[in-house]
Amino acid sequence: MSLTPFARRPEPVEAPAPEPWPEIGETWKPEGVTIAQRYYNQAHAVVLVYTTDDGPHGTYYSVACLGCHYATAKDGKRTYSTRYGLADAATVANEHATTCRALPRDIPARPDDDTVREQLHTWVRRSRRRDEDTQVWVSDLDLIRLTLQRTNDWIVAVLNQLVVDEPEIMRVERSQYSDYVSYYARRLPEN
Ligand SMILES: [Zn+2]
Repeated sequence: MSLTPFARRPEPVEAPAPEPWPEIGETWKPEGVTIAQRYYNQAHAVVLVYTTDDGPHGTYYSVACLGCHYATAKDGKRTYSTRYGLADAATVANEHATTCRALPRDIPARPDDDTVREQLHTWVRRSRRRDEDTQVWVSDLDLIRLTLQRTNDWIVAVLNQLVVDEPEIMRVERSQYSDYVSYYARRLPEN
């Protein structure tokens, strides 16, 4: 098997052409993420660099190993601007691929709608705090998007429905000046 399609060194990247995965003979593009780069680890498992931003070029990228369960969306050593751009994510993915020896594991099956909806509701409930409403961002979910396998639009629709169904749990703020929408997990009741 040739290793050539998967360079180990980070390189400037064009939008990648769909390319079959040698292991399974088909292109794996989980719903809701754009795969920007892939690296092989020492045991032929793939390390992904992906974005959940809409459009062909993302602003923020995450890294996930499909051998071990290593996944990272930000640089914990930085105090600001912690999210990875493409170059940073590529470096992190390459470093991980160089040292990881985990064997390839199966691609997660796509969960059904009810399961994902429940996961999102749980996420919102867990975000609630006692002192104030807590803003939640869809990008907070970046690390689990490979298992959620849903588009941004689908996730936003679930949040909007939650605002309607359970207004005591979640509220939405719409900007007067733009399309910008913010979601808040409401503060917990006093007792
Ligand atoms: Zn790994």
